[in-house]
Amino acid sequence: MFAGPIQDLIDELARLPGIGPKSAQRVAFHLLKVPANDVRRLADALVEAKEKVRLCRICFNLADGELCGYCADPRRDGSMICVVQEPPDVIALEKTREFRGLYHVLQGSISPIEGIGPEDLRVAELLERIRGTGAPDETRVEEIILATNPNIEGEATAMYLARLLIPIGLKVTRLASGLPVGGDLEYADEVTLGRAIEGRRAVTG
Ligand SMILES: [Zn+2]
Repeated sequence: MFAGPIQDLIDELARLPGIGPKSAQRVAFHLLKVPANDVRRLADALVEAKEKVRLCRICFNLADGELCGYCADPRRDGSMICVVQEPPDVIALEKTREFRGLYHVLQGSISPIEGIGPEDLRVAELLERIRGTGAPDETRVEEIILATNPNIEGEATAMYLARLLIPIGLKVTRLASGLPVGGDLEYADEVTLGRAIEGRRAVTG
């Protein structure tokens, strides 16, 4: 519809998740209208975040250093690890204020249709974490809470992990039902999610 830089900008914006062609156009025109400094700040923030943010060495949550804020916090309870699919799930669970343990971000879920298997996720790293280094000051992991999404892929991932973890002798729990089925954890409301953690149930092999 447009040509040159205007269309390029619209096309780039339209590639972002949740932004359709109409929104892309609206954002593009907004950016062209605001002072150049505002646009520069946005561009700098994008580049800086992309350069500085990486994955936490322990839990694979987003971090701006070696470790994320949770892994670096000695007040968190290292005997419990809550396993989630993506970094926004951590934020959703933190909002409930029901959980004081640590996290493990799988970076996805098992999906045969999309050809994603356990080897594409951070499963091996989770097992390594559970086994630990054997250092005397190390907290032993006792409970794994499977907080994958309440949909087919999330359930399949949870079942896969349960079969792997129960024989190790760990307490394995799953969030209580009541979460909207088929949805993403990140969109569940705090109260429902809080209750789901509180009422988590043991998974038995
Ligand atoms: Zn971490």
